[in-house]
Amino acid sequence: MTGRVSVSMNDAILVGYRDKTYALDPRSPVDAHYIFMSHAHIDHLYGGVTKNLIASEETVKLARARGFDLPDPIQNQEVELLNSGHIVGSKSFLIPDEVFYTGDMALRPRAFLKAPKLPKAKALIIEATYGHRRYSFPSPASVVAEANKAISEMFSRGIPVILCGYALGKAQVLSYLFSTWSPIFVHESVGKMNEVCCSLGVPLDSHKSYSKAKDEGLLKKRPWILIAPSSLLRSGLISSLRKKYGAVTFSFSGWAVDKWFNGMSHIDYPFPLSDHCDYNDLVKVVKRVDPEKVYTVHGYAKEFSQALRRLGYDAHSLSSHQSNLVDFSE
Ligand SMILES: [Zn+2]
Ligand SMILES: [Zn+2]
Repeated sequence: MTGRVSVSMNDAILVGYRDKTYALDPRSPVDAHYIFMSHAHIDHLYGGVTKNLIASEETVKLARARGFDLPDPIQNQEVELLNSGHIVGSKSFLIPDEVFYTGDMALRPRAFLKAPKLPKAKALIIEATYGHRRYSFPSPASVVAEANKAISEMFSRGIPVILCGYALGKAQVLSYLFSTWSPIFVHESVGKMNEVCCSLGVPLDSHKSYSKAKDEGLLKKRPWILIAPSSLLRSGLISSLRKKYGAVTFSFSGWAVDKWFNGMSHIDYPFPLSDHCDYNDLVKVVKRVDPEKVYTVHGYAKEFSQALRRLGYDAHSLSSHQSNLVDFSE
């Protein structure tokens, strides 16, 4: 049996198997029998799909809530979708024994997100967002403990805290992890995603929206917590809350390991809580899947493939704008 993995010029990973082609997380029109969407983050979504979509029900619902007009997903007997531990509904793609594509992946369980189970496969296509050795994350539990301690200090001084993370993914994890504090308000964009996730069975409390809290004069009663999307960190809204109420910003991201992230003036307290594997977890994934060939995508794809070659793996990075066709045979 022979399969092949190729990358097109259009930023799609193409897998050929038994006369069928699978486009993995394409970003633009692509000629393939099936389209796989791993999860509902914008950089993995493509709205032009009209049929033969392989995705979880959760991903399709979340994507629709984000304005992507997707068809209902289909079942495909050749393919298994496995939990990737990244965000609600995120999946890895497996053609049993042959090809495993991680999608975005996190090995460590956090909040309501479970650790993924890893299969063996001959070819592994792995995300390498944090595929550089300098990315080593502390355990989520220790980061949460540290953040709780910092919130407690702020609260004892009457200082409001703004918890920032991506509206889809991190914001639900934050909503869950810090639900013991009160009062908690959520920015509209976070509230909307929380609501969709609740409808999908994620156990999240419902919180008053920021604008309601503002209209009801609740922001004046300090302290409080606001959960806001990190996209708003530089916005007038956050800076006015910092000025007016003396609020401080806590930002949760794997990039908190980096100096440039810590040096940003609108982030008061960075916390390295990530929805991705760090470098060591990525190596762990490779070891457990035990592939004959590895292809790296995203982020530090090049550096990670080099590191894997030093570890003795047959590894290549699949960067965009590069045509690459590789055979793997039994
Ligand atoms: Zn993602
Ligand atoms: Zn991604």
